[in-house]
Amino acid sequence: MAFIEINNLTFNYPNNINAPALDELSLSVEKGQFIVLFGPSGCGKSTLLRLLKKEIQPHGVLSGDILFNGHTLDEEGSGSREVGFVFQDPENQVVADQVLHELAFGLENQGLPTNEMRNRIAEMVHFMGAEHLLHRKTHELSGGQKQQLNLASVLLMQPSVLLLDEPTAQLDPVSSREFLDMIVRLNEEFGLTVIMAEHRLEEVISVADKIVMMDNGRVQIAGNPKQVVNHI
Ligand code: ADP
Ligand code: ADP
Repeated sequence: MAFIEINNLTFNYPNNINAPALDELSLSVEKGQFIVLFGPSGCGKSTLLRLLKKEIQPHGVLSGDILFNGHTLDEEGSGSREVGFVFQDPENQVVADQVLHELAFGLENQGLPTNEMRNRIAEMVHFMGAEHLLHRKTHELSGGQKQQLNLASVLLMQPSVLLLDEPTAQLDPVSSREFLDMIVRLNEEFGLTVIMAEHRLEEVISVADKIVMMDNGRVQIAGNPKQVVNHI
C-alpha cells in the first residue's frame, strides 16, 4: 500500500453538479516522491490538493476515496496537521507583522516549550539561509521572501507531506528558481513527500519523480518526466 492512495475519486462542487471537478481520478504517491500535477487551468489540480488538505470536506457528492497510510481522511490519525500547504498568493498566508512572530505562530498554538520553539526556528532559518530576515517586518519582504516564509512556517509544523498550489506563479524568475531549489533540497535531503500543482511544465520537468498530466478532472498520463514528454 502506497503512502497516499487516491482511488476512483469523483468530486462535484455542490453548485456545479453536472461537471465533476474530479472524475474517477486514481493516483498513488510513495513516501519521498516529488509529484507534479500538471494541466490547464480548471483541470482539477487545486480541487485535488484541497481535498488532500481536507479544506473541502469529502461528503455526499464524492465517490471513491483517499487513503493516507491506509487510513481514510475521516479516520483519526490523518488530521490536516500532517499536511503542509503553500498557496499561490504569497500575501494570503502571512498573518504576523514580524518574521519571527510568523514562524512562532503555529508552534505557539501547539503549546511547544519556548526553548524547543527557539531551537526549531533557528534551525529552519539556518537551513534556509535567512538569518538576516528574522527580525524584519513581514510587509517589507519581497514576494519571493514571503513565499519562503510561508514555506518555513508550514515546515515548522513538521508535515508528512507538502502540498503546493502553483507556488511560484506570482514570483519573478529568480525568486521562482530559488523557491523551487528549496523544495528540491527538502525532497532530496529530508525525503519530504511533495505534491505540487504547476501549469508550466518547463519549470518542473527536471525535478519531478512523477508528472501527472490532468485534463477535465482525469489523469491523462502519469509517469516519469521522460515518459510524459515522449507522450506529448
Ligand atoms: P485547477 O486548479 O487545475 O485550475 P480547479 O480544481 O480550480 O482546477 O477547478 C476544477 C473545476 O472545478 C473547474 O471546472 C472549476 O471551475 C471548478 N471549481 C473550482 N472551484 C470551484 C468552486 N469553489 N465552486 C464551484 N466550482 C469550482
Ligand atoms: P486555480 O486555478 O488556482 O484553482 P481559480 O482561479 O480556478 O484558481 O479559482 C480561484 C477561486 O475561485 C478558488 O477559490 C475556486 O474555488 C473558485 N472557483 C473556481 N471556479 C469556480 C466556479 N466555477 N464556481 C465557483 N467558484 C469557483
